Amino acid sequence: MKAIVLFGSPGSGKGTQAKLLKKRLGIPHISTGDMLRERIRLDGELRAGVGTVMLSGALAPDQLVNRMVEDRLGRADAAKGFILDGYPRTLAQADELCRWLDKRGVREVVIYLAVDYNSIIARLMGRRQCLRCGTLYNLVSQPPKVDLECDRDGEKLVVRDDDSETVIRERLDAYERQTRPVLEFLRQAGRRVEEVAAGADSPEQVFEKICGIVLNHDRA
Ligand code: ADP
Repeated sequence: MKAIVLFGSPGSGKGTQAKLLKKRLGIPHISTGDMLRERIRLDGELRAGVGTVMLSGALAPDQLVNRMVEDRLGRADAAKGFILDGYPRTLAQADELCRWLDKRGVREVVIYLAVDYNSIIARLMGRRQCLRCGTLYNLVSQPPKVDLECDRDGEKLVVRDDDSETVIRERLDAYERQTRPVLEFLRQAGRRVEEVAAGADSPEQVFEKICGIVLNHDRA
């Protein structure tokens, strides 16, 4: 069972690495951000409540997120392993996850993608997305071939709602206040936390470092 937890600030590259890992390992990529956006798209009531909270850059309620993740981890395709992206983000979530893992005797590896603050700001401000197919670009590190147009379908690229400047500040603030302490909690609890420098290297280089850790984990 490969239980991989990708941990890091918004903009640290969790989503990119999760997609690469999914392809290499054949286990599902579980992104709480994607799951929440999907739920909100389908449910008007949730959109008015949790959707508004998320648009401000703040976190969705622990109870909702915990329930969502537990359901997802219980599905058949997660039996051989999974990659968590964006979870846990609070101490209450970390506590819940550790219980879930311990109950099943699953030993996870937490990969902490360490990126300096200035790079994070530059990455988040440069982020653009195709609303038709969802592909993410970065004007600095992964620009589209044609200015502001999607390589796949030519659709105009846009700034995602939660990538505007005030919202970015709020998201980073939520990270510092609520999420960073989770790292210390996990370390203190004796969980396996591996730090990977992810600020200067290309996504492929970061990926190779992560693969080295994950394969080692298998042998341990
Ligand atoms: P990023 O990692 O770039 O901030 P995500 O897609 O992971 O983007 O998350 C977008 C938003 O979804 C967050 O700002 C937050 O409001 C909400 N969210 C995602 N994961 C969680 C979580 N584990 N707990 C609470 N809220 C979450």
